[in-house]
Amino acid sequence: MQSWPAAAVPVLGGAADEVPLRVHDTATGGRLEVRPSGPTARLYVCGITPYDATHLGHAATYLAFDTLVRVWRDRGFAVDYVQNVTDIDDPLLERAARDGADWTLVAQRETELFRADMTALRVLPPTHYVGAVEAMDEIAAFVVALLEAGAAYRVTAPAGGEDVYFSVDAAPHFGSVARLPGDMMLTLFAERGGDPERTGKKHPLDPLLWLAARSGEPSWSSPLGPGRPGWHVECAAIALNRLGLRHDVQGGGSDLAFPHHEMSAAHAEIGTGTWPYAGAYVHAGMVGLDGEKMSKSRGNLVFVSRLLAAGVEAGALRLALLGAHYRSDREWTDRVLETGQQRFAAWRDGVSRAAGASGTATLAAMRRALADDLDTPAALAIVDQWCAVPGDDPAAPALLRDAIDTLMGVSIEVVHRSAPTSPLRGSAV
Ligand code: ZN
Repeated sequence: MQSWPAAAVPVLGGAADEVPLRVHDTATGGRLEVRPSGPTARLYVCGITPYDATHLGHAATYLAFDTLVRVWRDRGFAVDYVQNVTDIDDPLLERAARDGADWTLVAQRETELFRADMTALRVLPPTHYVGAVEAMDEIAAFVVALLEAGAAYRVTAPAGGEDVYFSVDAAPHFGSVARLPGDMMLTLFAERGGDPERTGKKHPLDPLLWLAARSGEPSWSSPLGPGRPGWHVECAAIALNRLGLRHDVQGGGSDLAFPHHEMSAAHAEIGTGTWPYAGAYVHAGMVGLDGEKMSKSRGNLVFVSRLLAAGVEAGALRLALLGAHYRSDREWTDRVLETGQQRFAAWRDGVSRAAGASGTATLAAMRRALADDLDTPAALAIVDQWCAVPGDDPAAPALLRDAIDTLMGVSIEVVHRSAPTSPLRGSAV
């Protein structure tokens, strides 16, 4: 599947790896140094199910991992970044049926909107952007491997054919990603697409690997019979086939820790005979509105495209979202957006000055903040401080402008206060 265009990233000087990069790892519950074993960092971030436009919850998650990509790149690593698109799944079919639309057209339209939003927000694109539909053969092959390993079993489907389920009891490390008690696992499994009540399963938590073709629903031929894959095995197959064993970071929203990442890791454990699936499991917090998590099912979404269409600058929106730590659950309010807009304006003034306080020292401080579990609020405060004080380093404004672009993905057009040929800009200052 086609990804989206990459914005240019300025290369910064100085020592980018003065301090180790640490992130919070869900599986250990603590900070973990992520140091790629070679010149290339490997990242998998779960992608969208394309049945509705990109809302601020999505944007916050992808900005969190964009920050990680940018920090790695600043440290000289190439980044092999895989993101999937779950372009066939129940919610997509339900949305298409509700709207009387062709599910493939809904998926195409919403994926295109997502690409446009990510491009506008200057989120660096994944190196591999992979749809479930185009990966159907490799996912089915992975399910076959799990069956052959004795970790999966067939359950007769209601209208003929056989569904395939994964046996969580077969995976020795099952439960060690999200580290939840059993009752909590059951609750979340039921809430998040699982089917604990399905008759014929060996364990209520066993997740679906392959859904035999249902009447009126799309299906794909495979050695398992016609059908379509479950979501967790989709991500496991796509990740393993492109990133190999033990990618550096598995990322997603915090609502994916269980069951999604737990199950993908368990599938990978059986499919590869190795553990762990990922070096670190990194989860972004949820964005709420009016006291509730922003989600499609609640219908309380704020869309990126609508904010941009209403004239909100992408840089201001980025700064509004980066103003909270990526792991924190936060509320989206008008005040949050205003703060981002005010900050964007103040930074524009700051980098438009003829000189400022030491650029290299400020860059070093920004890098230290981001190395500390991608602490964007601290990095933003450092730039705020730099903008607030005068200085005599003539190289600082240009360096800060590049650093803000490279590390935070915010491109700032310098304001030329005294430019006689630009009355429009002049009047805006
Ligand atoms: Zn996933």
